[in-house]
Amino acid sequence: AGMRSTAYLDDLNPAQREAVETLDGPVLMLAGAGTGKTKALMARVAHLITTGRARPDEILAVTFTNKAAKEMKTRLAVTPYDVNAPLPWMGTFHAICVKLLRRHAELISEKALAAQPKTQPHPNAVLEDIGANERVGWGGGLHLKSNFTILDSDDQQRLLKQLITAAGIDEKRWTARQLAGLIDHWKNRCWTPGKVPAAEAASFNNIGTELYEQYQRRLLELNAVDFGDLIVHMVTIFQAHPDLLAQYQRWFKYILVDEYQDTNVAQYMWLRLLAGGHKNICCVGDDDQSIYGWRGAEVGNILRFEKDFPGAKVVRLEQNYRSTPHILAAATSVISGNENRLGKTLWTQAEEGEKLRLIGHWDGDEEARWIGDEIEALEKGTRGLRPYSADDMAILVRASHQMRAFEDRFLTIGLPYKVIGGPRFYERLEIRDAMGYFRLVTSPADDLAFERIVNTPKRGLGDKARQKIQMVARANGTSLLDGARILLQDKGLTGKGAAQLSLFIDQIDRWHEVARLHATATTLADEDDVVMDDDRPQAPFSHVELAEQILDESGYTEMWQNDKTPEAPGRLENLKELVSQLDNFDNLQGFLEHVSLVMDNEQSGDEPKVSIMTLHAAKGLEFPVIFLPGWEDGLFPSQRSMDESGLKGLEEERRLAYVGITRAEELCTISFAGNRRVFGQWQSQLPSRFIDELSEEDVEVLTPPGLYGGGYGAASGGSVQSGMESRMAETNVYNSPGWRRMQARASDRPVSQPRETRGSVIDMTAASAHTVGERVFHQKFGYGEILGVEGDKLEIAFDKAGVKKVVAKFVTNPDD
Ligand code: ATP
Ligand code: MG
Repeated sequence: AGMRSTAYLDDLNPAQREAVETLDGPVLMLAGAGTGKTKALMARVAHLITTGRARPDEILAVTFTNKAAKEMKTRLAVTPYDVNAPLPWMGTFHAICVKLLRRHAELISEKALAAQPKTQPHPNAVLEDIGANERVGWGGGLHLKSNFTILDSDDQQRLLKQLITAAGIDEKRWTARQLAGLIDHWKNRCWTPGKVPAAEAASFNNIGTELYEQYQRRLLELNAVDFGDLIVHMVTIFQAHPDLLAQYQRWFKYILVDEYQDTNVAQYMWLRLLAGGHKNICCVGDDDQSIYGWRGAEVGNILRFEKDFPGAKVVRLEQNYRSTPHILAAATSVISGNENRLGKTLWTQAEEGEKLRLIGHWDGDEEARWIGDEIEALEKGTRGLRPYSADDMAILVRASHQMRAFEDRFLTIGLPYKVIGGPRFYERLEIRDAMGYFRLVTSPADDLAFERIVNTPKRGLGDKARQKIQMVARANGTSLLDGARILLQDKGLTGKGAAQLSLFIDQIDRWHEVARLHATATTLADEDDVVMDDDRPQAPFSHVELAEQILDESGYTEMWQNDKTPEAPGRLENLKELVSQLDNFDNLQGFLEHVSLVMDNEQSGDEPKVSIMTLHAAKGLEFPVIFLPGWEDGLFPSQRSMDESGLKGLEEERRLAYVGITRAEELCTISFAGNRRVFGQWQSQLPSRFIDELSEEDVEVLTPPGLYGGGYGAASGGSVQSGMESRMAETNVYNSPGWRRMQARASDRPVSQPRETRGSVIDMTAASAHTVGERVFHQKFGYGEILGVEGDKLEIAFDKAGVKKVVAKFVTNPDD
């Protein structure tokens, strides 16, 4: 390759350039949000290619979310990068590991692993301290095959449930969900069953590790893996096969990792194995944005980088290019409440711009309504700001159940939106059934898929018939599909069910044949070392047509057509949507892989859409306009983090707040509601303690519409503080008695600093609870006077409705 332009270097600042141009040896870029870490990382990829240090496919770039991986690719497109060259290995840990594991699945064999000595010096001495020398297998003789299935959490739990029941313990008390969490936790730490420390042996009624071992065996029997296995298996393979590891160490000449602060131990071990040779590893992160501790991420990984990779070049970036000064200052003021942080300076040259906006609402639905209206106003440019496209705007929620209110509202007003990583399209019943069919067609030994669909639609195969199939399969050591075959041959099943089962098996066989041709067509084309062979058998029709055929001929579509429930039409639409999406993939297998990895649920059509996602999913992204709803104690920070002793959980929530605010470029609106229905129960809410931590000079308080004749406006007059207080106090939100009760409680909650010195934005401690004789207003019964107070119930003499006992939260004080 001749000289190519290095234009991608021109718009980097000196610190970024240094990080980009230091190509060899370990580099750590440690810097705050929006300082151009990801941008520099991308420039580095471009630079490696342009300077001829590595071919694109010799570069391994790890991103945290699939969305970020996609963004990375878009960013690469604007670098002088040859679009026809093979792409770098770019994606999440999981996406990359799936690709690797498909190549080497057969090395996950119980026998081969068990035969390895438990300890044997590893060629990479650097790995000794993390126990990489230990080899652990599950014992036995099975092995994984390259067409393994990736289980989702539903399948995983169903499997665990079977094991728990078989072990004879009360599955209601010791739930599959709990065990799944435990096993994930172990896998995050790269603990295979033999490696779970003795200290954890008592877990799950003393049989946690035993069930873990059984589970792994079952997975092998099913030719399946779960998410955690993707990483753990690769680490196991690399540890057991130093020669193979060495090949990959040579192959991946340069390794780059974004969002390094969120790697867990297993991912970290995987990285260190791969980088162990040349040590050309560049990690990028921000300790203040470590938000996956609950999933086993270790912020310590970033802090020990210099120790792990002696001589590492550490680059710090301080200029923020994303956000306006108010947004940056508010984010900084919140995160400074954390004790455990490295601390860094951030500055920006951006113009001052808008202050953060803060608004309180009566309840969650009103909050959603207001945000919907606000988005429409911002689109029209009627807020005195430039008009924004829906694509410029995102709503970031703490908990996914918050999304429902927005989805409902936006559907009502016809505001296009997309949910990223939300209530997943792919988790809907009909989609999962359809995918069950696709799974069985691509992998006939996928017993979980077989179980799911063999009698959906009804084929006259009741519990008895299915048990028979199970037994025959077990006795013969075959898959359920083959078990069913044997059962029919042996005339173990007769009548209508038998005829239908036989038809079903014939269909699966026929479709499998077609799917196999689709799959081989693409695998061959993908491998550089395989000569293209034009005599390959051709599939009679495309995988999209195959999918249609499967759903129609199996009777699955018809089942919903005949269904009279109100959901049925929607389900049929979803199935159509599913089939239309297949076009983006080479074959069913590729699609299934995508679904198991990607949780993005993007709607079709390219009109601009507002994005709705969790704060966790928003990491690394940026939008001109951000809405942060539900800033209420118990929701954000989460109840769990507040109940925990110690600061760990709360500090992670605060980092989440920091991540949220720093996603905004120009406008950031924080909101909260006084009442919220959580899992069907109304609850009074208290504004988040993080609101108190916002620097008040960067915040403007908005008045909810409807208070002053539907007006909209910011607090005005007096100091900001008093303006905020008085306006806030005037909103009906604060007159909710439940709210007051919580206020009273709030005054004795632990705070890291005295309230007065924290620049309290809203000081609600003045509010008092209801008293006898007080005049109040009730939503349904109108005005009245309190006769008695009993817990959360009030006895009231209403002017018109007479004496009634009512729930306090529906009562407001008309004089406040
Ligand atoms: P986060 O911590 O949130 O992941 P980050 O450090 O990865 O943030 P980037 O997303 O790379 O930051 O960059 C933030 C924004 O700043 C992007 O829009 C990017 O294009 C822009 N930017 C980064 N560096 C520069 C620069 N030197 N000049 C101009 N704009 C820049
Ligand atoms: Mg980034």
